[in-house]
Amino acid sequence: MPVPSATAARPPASGFSAAPGPLRDRFGRIITDTRISITDRCNYRCVYCREGGEEAGQAGRELSWDDWRQVLLVLRRLGIRKLRFTGGEPLLRRGLIEFIASLAPLGFEDLALTTNGHLLAAQAAELRRAGLQRITVSLDSVQPEKFARIARVPGAWERVRDGIAAAQTAGLEPVKINAVLLRGFNDDEIEAFAEFARRQRVVVRFIEFMPLEEGRLWTPEIVVTMREILERLQARYRLESLPVEGGETARRFRFADGSPGEIGIIAPVTQPFCGHCSRIRLTADGKLRTCLFSLREWPLAAALRAGGEELEALVRRAVAHKEERHHIGEPGFQRPSRTMVHIGG
Ligand code: SAM
Repeated sequence: MPVPSATAARPPASGFSAAPGPLRDRFGRIITDTRISITDRCNYRCVYCREGGEEAGQAGRELSWDDWRQVLLVLRRLGIRKLRFTGGEPLLRRGLIEFIASLAPLGFEDLALTTNGHLLAAQAAELRRAGLQRITVSLDSVQPEKFARIARVPGAWERVRDGIAAAQTAGLEPVKINAVLLRGFNDDEIEAFAEFARRQRVVVRFIEFMPLEEGRLWTPEIVVTMREILERLQARYRLESLPVEGGETARRFRFADGSPGEIGIIAPVTQPFCGHCSRIRLTADGKLRTCLFSLREWPLAAALRAGGEELEALVRRAVAHKEERHHIGEPGFQRPSRTMVHIGG
């Protein structure tokens, strides 16, 4: 009987198995996208997200940049192509620009960031130079005073406005603007947001409000639905549907009169896109989540200490348990134990 050689039984020096197949869940969905919350600290306290006035998060619980690099090396090998950095507020974390630059050898196809824009004016050009390709800025009102009241930070509007302009100058175009609509709160601004898209040459994406806030405001009635948004826009503009690109969660429209700007509508509540979800999420404290609404998290700490193969196995195990869909609005729906700011939006 042949005696297996000691080297043949051992994993390669990198600690990886030889040829990983794609990350596929039990519903056949292939996972290619990862959202990383690099901090759950936030300098805004948006009224629809945060309950109290206190700071979110703690710097001490954030995974180190070295740990993130190790995780991302494994994810890249497992077929993750797209990364989005989020938070909390990602631009609060020191070292992000150098971290993004250090990812170049891993060859991710798409590096994007979601920010509230408050610190963007000073960082946009460097983020671009570091290799960031796309940016989304959150803005829930186009009325300066109202926006400052939403964020609960005086002067927030001017900071975000300057951040958007700096991102455009830096070539992070087209800048996408996320606007979460809540009935009786900012739903009177749908047309004003469309005008903002046209004037500022940005993509405005309306997002249906999900039950992930601290203050328990969510009811089905507070959600401004995709249908309603479209009806309001179509009463004023002729819109042409744009093709949806792979992994894209938004329905996209351009203005038929040839105006610059674009409209997107993301409808996780009334038109869920779980059936073609290609995403996993990583929290700032190093837990893997397979859905925004996951009731289970997969801590990375032990696998990180053990090395590449363990991490690979953990990611595969988590993906095998990815939820078929969320259950917002259904009887028995259970909120996750963490809210949006701590999961990462
Ligand atoms: N601080 C960054 C920002 O403001 O974009 C990144 C994190 S924030 C949680 C990401 C996005 O999630 C923002 O566009 C925010 O408006 C959105 N968001 C927060 N709570 C939400 C909710 N309950 N439903 C839908 N979107 C929400």
